[in-house]
Amino acid sequence: MDFSVENKSCSFCGVQGEKGMKFAGGLGAMMCHSCVDEYHAVLSSPERTEAVSRPPWESMTDAELLAKIPLIAQTATQVDDFLVEWVELARSRKLSWAAIGQSLGTSRQAAWERFAQRVERLSTDAAG
Ligand SMILES: [Zn+2]
Repeated sequence: MDFSVENKSCSFCGVQGEKGMKFAGGLGAMMCHSCVDEYHAVLSSPERTEAVSRPPWESMTDAELLAKIPLIAQTATQVDDFLVEWVELARSRKLSWAAIGQSLGTSRQAAWERFAQRVERLSTDAAG
């Protein structure tokens, strides 16, 4: 499992992690310290919560909207990598492809086809 902040990006603002930064995270989504502070300030203030009640994309220019697309793709990749790390963790605990497939609502074969090569690569990289 990769805990290094240098390989992560904030799923809220897109900032790339650097040594010394702290990210909160869960389920593959990460949040930088600045975003944690900002969202805490907003959620702690009824006036600020009301002020941001409209979706942010409604006030974005086309250029701002286009600039968000690669950041969303970056987050999608990060979440997908996190999923592969968890499947690798499950396999390291000798959990079956059938159990992993069932947890994803799919078949053993579909789970194996989706993850086996990436999990194998991850295991090989970790070993040496
Ligand atoms: Zn952020």
